[in-house]
Amino acid sequence: MTIYRPTPQIDVLKLPLIGRLLRWRWGRLVFQTILLLVATLLLYDGFTGPQFAPENLSTVVTWIHYRGIIVFGFLLLGNIFCMGCPFTLPRTLAKRLAIRGGRWPKMLRNKWLAIGMLFFFFWAYEYFDLFASPLLTVWIIAGYFIASFVLEALFEESPFCKYVCPLGTFNFVSSTVSPLQITVSDRDVCHTCTGRECINGTTNIGVPGNPVKQGQGVISLDSIQVLGCGTELFAPQIDSNLDCTMCLDCARACPHDNVMLGVRNPLAELNEGVWSQRWDLSFLVLIFTFSALGNAFGMVGPVFQLEAWLANVLKVQDEALPLMIIFGMTNLILPIGFGLLVAWLSRTLARREEPLRTTLGRYAPAFAPLAFSIWLSHYGGFHFLGSAAAISPVFKNFMWDHNLFFLGAPDWTKSAIVPLNWLDPLEMGAILIGLIASLYVLNERGKRAPNRRDKTLAQLPWMLLLVGLTIASFYIFYLPMEMRGVSFTG
Ligand code: SF4
Ligand code: SF4
Repeated sequence: MTIYRPTPQIDVLKLPLIGRLLRWRWGRLVFQTILLLVATLLLYDGFTGPQFAPENLSTVVTWIHYRGIIVFGFLLLGNIFCMGCPFTLPRTLAKRLAIRGGRWPKMLRNKWLAIGMLFFFFWAYEYFDLFASPLLTVWIIAGYFIASFVLEALFEESPFCKYVCPLGTFNFVSSTVSPLQITVSDRDVCHTCTGRECINGTTNIGVPGNPVKQGQGVISLDSIQVLGCGTELFAPQIDSNLDCTMCLDCARACPHDNVMLGVRNPLAELNEGVWSQRWDLSFLVLIFTFSALGNAFGMVGPVFQLEAWLANVLKVQDEALPLMIIFGMTNLILPIGFGLLVAWLSRTLARREEPLRTTLGRYAPAFAPLAFSIWLSHYGGFHFLGSAAAISPVFKNFMWDHNLFFLGAPDWTKSAIVPLNWLDPLEMGAILIGLIASLYVLNERGKRAPNRRDKTLAQLPWMLLLVGLTIASFYIFYLPMEMRGVSFTG
């Protein structure tokens, strides 16, 4: 694996105002509190409000706005949802309750459980029609708070974020194409740093750039403290956004003001091949890619015919099993099968003798840009641009129902925030850009491989798979798709 250390020129933490706000000790807490208030509002409306999804804040905000805003966030900034994630808000309290010494089991310290959770989440979304049920939507939000708190309390690190959370898993893979990344400004300072507060945490209440000296304001573990990296990343060794929640605890904890939030080439970590060549990471990115198609396929006409046919063949009334078979095929069997097949073909064409895991690990990161562009087109383009204005009548209705402010009569025809005939070109354009970026990364990965044939022939099977996935996504996106969360279909 290449040793790559980013050297960004611009540090967002040094920018006026925004940099100060981000480094401010309570900066994240303010962001989390705002999202906590939003989550509380959703919980309230989900439990007590109208159970018709297009008229309830919980379903509209969760399934239209949350997903749309985070995908645009990855494109422009990075993992902004994890940064403000309200589910980890009780982290400090949970840490105080922690059974000291509790470590996440070694056999689960990988992405297999996260892959399983991601699969289950996509299946449950369709099977339970979560987008159509305010009550189920808010039970999921409540479940997230509970699961996150319990795991934080039971284990020293943050296993929920790193190994369990399906949203976090989605965010980690998406943020590998983001333009911001944590790194350090001077590695020599880290070499002589004994405290390694960025990972160990500190009881020092000083702020970066103005550290409090020993004996001047040092406070005990039982009072306020700055936590180290919850996902146990060591700032000077970070070369990827995977597992980084962008919480900036490392920047607040570092007494030498040495942590940067650098601006980078969004394809840098993929080009450099910094990921471990592990089966779980390679399959994660492939499953993330095929799930982008599988998820969109779940909203178009042919899937309903296929479900009905399978139910008939299996002689079952319930759609649980047919849906499990369809998603099992699109989201697990196809990515794993194609991944192995194409890696084998690539290795054969390169006339290389190396484990298949190495070949797969070398090229799998090239799928991240295409995968992200399909999710962006779907969540950001179709659903968000196509129906974000639906929040206006829902919010007006909420205020009116609760005798708060009268903001005018709700106009239930409000939906798109761009002309609807822009959606197809925007979605297709985004996917094409994703394909070009993936082909570029593929070529860069080939150029850095040891074998001469990796620069040419060995890339061919991967290229065909990328192009095939792009064509499949065009086909699915051109079919009439359910515009969920609003009162009309797309
Ligand atoms: S980032 Fe800061 S706390 Fe971490 S090793 Fe470097 S100097 Fe020490
Ligand atoms: S490296 Fe760790 S502490 Fe720093 S922003 Fe990322 S997750 Fe937070």
